Amino acid sequence: MQLRYNYRVYPTPGQQIELAKAFGCARVVFNDGLRLRQQAREAGRKYVSDGELSRRIITEAKATPERAWLGEVSAVVLQQALADLNTAYRNFFASVTGKRKGPKVAPPRCRSRKDNRQAIRFTRNARFKVLDNGRLRLPKIGDVPVRWSRELPSEASSVTVIRDAAGRYFASLVVQTGEGEKLPPVESEIGIDLGLTRFAVMSDGTKVAAPKFLRRADRQLKRLQQDLSRKQRGSNRRKKAVVKVARAHARVADTRRDWQHKLSTRIIRDNQAVYVEDLCVVGLGRTRLAKSVHDASWASFTSMVEYKAARYGRTFARVDRFFPSTRMCSDCGRINDKMALDVRSWTCPCGSAHDRDVNAAMNVLAAGRAESLNDRGARIRPLAMVAPRGEAVIRSDAACSIRSVEGYSVLQL
Ligand SMILES: [Zn+2]
Repeated sequence: MQLRYNYRVYPTPGQQIELAKAFGCARVVFNDGLRLRQQAREAGRKYVSDGELSRRIITEAKATPERAWLGEVSAVVLQQALADLNTAYRNFFASVTGKRKGPKVAPPRCRSRKDNRQAIRFTRNARFKVLDNGRLRLPKIGDVPVRWSRELPSEASSVTVIRDAAGRYFASLVVQTGEGEKLPPVESEIGIDLGLTRFAVMSDGTKVAAPKFLRRADRQLKRLQQDLSRKQRGSNRRKKAVVKVARAHARVADTRRDWQHKLSTRIIRDNQAVYVEDLCVVGLGRTRLAKSVHDASWASFTSMVEYKAARYGRTFARVDRFFPSTRMCSDCGRINDKMALDVRSWTCPCGSAHDRDVNAAMNVLAAGRAESLNDRGARIRPLAMVAPRGEAVIRSDAACSIRSVEGYSVLQL
């Protein structure tokens, strides 16, 4: 399984200039490639192949006065920018033809220098290197200081250098993890109900509320955003407010991620199998706003549970909620009348008393168990192959699952 380890890096002012150049060149190559394909399409010519694109946009362009400066950055960075473009096209085509499941993928778009997140990638043949003195050697950038918040388990196959909206730099290294990480088996299995009133409720009766500090941080963020919206466009005050919002965003995202890591690690350690309701189905009944905020948070949480399950040898499955899990009695299976949202507990005619959310979680557990026993594979989804934003580039033959790992923060706004 491939995992991504993220570390904060502190490039010197000189290295920051070199990085800015590399970000710029990667962006230009990406946009040039996109334009060439768009023009070919408009002119009715056939799709420009990956090889031809690389030749025309990198090799031949370097020989022209307009693009001679492309030679100043690592060639691998430029090739990887085109690889991103090729992947974006492939995903788009697969989505159009229905080969790719999930939400529709839009055709690739131009990258802008105003994008919040700038990134370049070096693969192993770019000869990046972790030096004995702890610095990360990047071709044509220099030896960049790194805060190694955790040991890298093995040699990395690629490194992505990211500058986020808050002006921070990160190195995101892809490593292969071994088999030796499987946890000793345990008996218990668990179903999780994700809710609006509580973040999660488990079938064993555990209720997990989103911590107060997170809710407070969310409110503060909202206030900063309101401040920002009142500032004049193009003004200096607005620029300052933008940075403030980005920093606050980064803080909230970091805190939430840390909290979710702790929770998901505990769940995986304590349970042999974990079943979670499928978010696509849950989303139907909710209002737009609540949905967007909570879905993002749940999605990142369930994907953590998912990759940790794969890594530590546990079973994980999303359960389609085709049944009314709230109204169904987890004891007798009877489906009761609809309940108002404020009804927190109820009693089934069979006599068993239920906490609304715990009952739903028990139904999720039962459904997960039944499905994994009966028709394994039919309704239980295989491990998703979703790579984080901007990283859809790791070649699909190598990709199993690429996720961020405990304790490191990369801002993904
Ligand atoms: Zn009942």
